[in-house]
Amino acid sequence: MPDRAPQPVDRQLPTEEARDLISLVREIAQREIAPYAAEEEDAGRFPRELFGLLSESGLLGLPYDSEHGGGDQPYEVYLQVLEELAAARLTVGLGVSVHSLACHALATYGTKEQQVEHLPAMLGGGLLGAYCLSEPSSGSDAASLRTRAVRDGDDWVITGTKAWITHGGIADFYTVMARTGGEGSRGITAFLVPGDAEGLSAAAPEKKMGMKGSPTAQVHFDEVRVPDSRRLGEEGQGFAIALSALDSGRLGIAACAIGVAQAALDEAVAYATSRRQFGRPIADFQGLRFMLADMATRIEAGRALYLSAARLRDAGRPFSKQAAMAKLLCTDSAMQVTTDAVQILGGYGYTADFPAERYMREAKVLQIVEGTNQIQRMVIARHLAGPESR
Ligand SMILES: Cc1cc2nc3c(=O)[nH]c(=O)nc-3n(C[C@H](O)[C@H](O)[C@H](O)COP(=O)(O)OP(=O)(O)OC[C@H]3O[C@@H](n4cnc5c(N)ncnc54)[C@H](O)[C@@H]3O)c2cc1C
Repeated sequence: MPDRAPQPVDRQLPTEEARDLISLVREIAQREIAPYAAEEEDAGRFPRELFGLLSESGLLGLPYDSEHGGGDQPYEVYLQVLEELAAARLTVGLGVSVHSLACHALATYGTKEQQVEHLPAMLGGGLLGAYCLSEPSSGSDAASLRTRAVRDGDDWVITGTKAWITHGGIADFYTVMARTGGEGSRGITAFLVPGDAEGLSAAAPEKKMGMKGSPTAQVHFDEVRVPDSRRLGEEGQGFAIALSALDSGRLGIAACAIGVAQAALDEAVAYATSRRQFGRPIADFQGLRFMLADMATRIEAGRALYLSAARLRDAGRPFSKQAAMAKLLCTDSAMQVTTDAVQILGGYGYTADFPAERYMREAKVLQIVEGTNQIQRMVIARHLAGPESR
């Protein structure tokens, strides 16, 4: 049986421009990302300069309006770009997804003046963003956050600690949800805080199981002063803004998960067709053939679901339930597929000589970020059965 070199995914893309875009991304992934992924993840190194290249190539503002420097791409195209990047290295795919999440509040709820002033640098001017919702004592129950913003003349003064912030300490701007009113979700307001604001500092990055190149850190706000012109949306609208960003962001996580799963399947197929036991390639054994078939089926199903949710979004229709379903299915599938890939590689799968174990460690975090998969099930059930009664 010949070695089966992985073939690029045969993508359904709406335009010639989108096909060119995917070719460009594959070229960047093959030349600039994949060859360094294992070593840099081992060393815990974030490729900041690569994000400069992605910005120059127009890849940090793809789903946003070209009027402010975005790429005007439909979500179904943007997500497939994320999938390609994540297949090469999750730190990069997820980094682009989080950056887009951080731009959402300003691009969707900002005033014209705010957009003209800040968006071009965020979408194509080399800046990197972070999204600050979680806190040490509020994760799934995000509406109970405690970071406070107090009005002082024309300014707001922000004090508190955000937790688990992707790009914490290296971001150029932070989209921050802080409490400006009473308890609960209606007392929260969103702000755009520059990374060099006085009083803003980050703790040492968390020591994580995977995605070690992506810095995740607590960010402290010690009386950080921002003008009211950096308030995004209305006072009290911050939680709704945060959730709206997450609906879109969850689709990004779903696409990244399918990228990681696809990379694991490609590796498993290549290995199973070249490794021989009992005088035959191990891919001859039905036990493994069925595993490969199931892995491929999960990936296709996940891709179809995130694309169908994206197409609803592109058509301006509600997509929140489908985004939660896509995040749930794609990330659970990635966990299963990457675990199976390790199994197919046998003992070698358990070593760092092959990327299968890295994919498995990376898949795990995707079941947790941007709402754990328990929370996705709650969101889906609410669409079906209404809110829980107390
Ligand atoms: C690598 C990484 C990057 C991250 N990046 C960011 C970021 O950039 N910005 C940001 O704001 N946050 C970020 N997060 C935070 C992430 O969104 C939270 O970790 C996540 O929302 C879960 O919150 P928690 O960790 O506090 O867990 P908890 O909310 O304490 O949950 C613990 C467990 O209880 C379960 N649980 C909680 N409530 C319920 C319920 N009602 N029903 C059933 N089960 C429940 C959860 O599913 C989970 O299994 C990141 C996290 C990680 C690990």
